[in-house]
Amino acid sequence: MIDENVIRIDSLSKSYATGNGDTIRALDEVALNVRANDFICIVGPSGCGKSTLLRIVAGLEHASAGSVHYRDTMHTGPTREIGMVFQEYSLLPWRNVLDNVGLGMEFAGTPVSERLRVSRSFLKLVGMEKFERAFPHELSGGMQQRVAIARSLANNPDVLLMDEPFGALDAHTRILLQKELLRIWEKNRKTILFVTHSVDEAIYLADRIVVMSGRPGRILEVMELDQPRPRDRSNAQYGKMATQILDILEKEVSSSV
Ligand code: ADP
Repeated sequence: MIDENVIRIDSLSKSYATGNGDTIRALDEVALNVRANDFICIVGPSGCGKSTLLRIVAGLEHASAGSVHYRDTMHTGPTREIGMVFQEYSLLPWRNVLDNVGLGMEFAGTPVSERLRVSRSFLKLVGMEKFERAFPHELSGGMQQRVAIARSLANNPDVLLMDEPFGALDAHTRILLQKELLRIWEKNRKTILFVTHSVDEAIYLADRIVVMSGRPGRILEVMELDQPRPRDRSNAQYGKMATQILDILEKEVSSSV
């Protein structure tokens, strides 16, 4: 039978050995099916394993138990089909914007003319086409993150993993980029797994919100959101959902201190 899920996470657990011989259990029996074009946000208390989960799905780390399948194939290492955007802007400081965006294509041996064409089209998509010759240190955090998003999209991944991509930005830029990301996602449908500690951000963006427990991270709830976008933060339903998620998280945090 063909699996409709783009990503299937089964009974995934992860433990880390610490330097003093202890074990930290970061994730416990996490199971999640991600369908094509899903926009999933993962929220949970700090340290509950959200980034670990994303890194395992990216193939940057191995699970201690359980599995991740990407389109029916057991996923064991990084692949071009799964791209990642980190919180730190992660651009190469010695490369200009255009060369940063073309990096993955350069590794893949894409001819220069095609690389430039694709890089420029994604820079345009994120509104950075006027800055192609600029170097990362000449750009604000928000601009760098736009470039990082363009770089990920230029590799044409099937799935985009985003680990607190707007976490280091000021509130105004963050709201602006949330809007931009939805516009880009609507134009350029990707399956997105987005980690955030902001409940507001999750409600603004997601089709489904995965609420995780404190460490070891387990999935407590998966909430479906069917309000049309763009979502109105002053809407009563929006506020009700935020209260509901914050209540769950508050209980989690208070039971772990
Ligand atoms: P979150 O993203 O939810 O804040 P993380 O996934 O970063 O949480 O971390 C989950 C837990 O695993 C934390 O307690 C963290 O200290 C621990 N951890 C993460 N990476 C490592 C590592 N490489 N070695 C040891 N412990 C780690």
